[in-house]
Amino acid sequence: MIELKDFIRDVPDFPKPGIVFKDITPLLQDARAWAQAIEQMQQRTQALQADLLLGIESRGFLFAGALAKQLGRGLIIARKPGKLPYRSDEVSYDLEYGSNTLQMHVDAVKPGQRVIIVDDLLATGGTAAACSRLVGKQRGVVAGYLFCVELSFLQGRRQLGDAPVESLLQY
Ligand code: AMP
Repeated sequence: MIELKDFIRDVPDFPKPGIVFKDITPLLQDARAWAQAIEQMQQRTQALQADLLLGIESRGFLFAGALAKQLGRGLIIARKPGKLPYRSDEVSYDLEYGSNTLQMHVDAVKPGQRVIIVDDLLATGGTAAACSRLVGKQRGVVAGYLFCVELSFLQGRRQLGDAPVESLLQY
């Protein structure tokens, strides 16, 4: 077993002074570490019975895309404003650094479909909570949340309601 934390690089003061950025690119770069991360994340999805995986721009796409393929489930995406070509729903939210808006195509989720929200990292929880609102707007069900990294000290999971929250690596 590979120690996955060895592949998460701390970058101090990025993108702003005082933020320690958790850089996942060393994990992506190492084929065995990446495969192990996706395998372990896949195991965390087993009880959730999802129809769709929702990847959050942009690093969430990497994890959600790989997992959707492994699980044989559809992939939907939440993107920054102006990126999606078709009619979209929109929500705004606060980030650990700044604020943001996310959009999702209006037909991404069919009513009743179960969605796992996937991102590289859970910080304050604002981004994932915003995606939960997008899923709710389309009358989908949030089956759970899945992250590679969780900054537990920020208590982001408190923003995420009752659905299960899974993360591989906690700091
Ligand atoms: P939050 O909405 O505060 O949970 O922030 C989560 C989003 O911001 C994710 O898409 C992360 O990729 C990014 N993010 C926030 N803080 C960090 C951090 N310290 N290192 C890397 N990414 C971060």
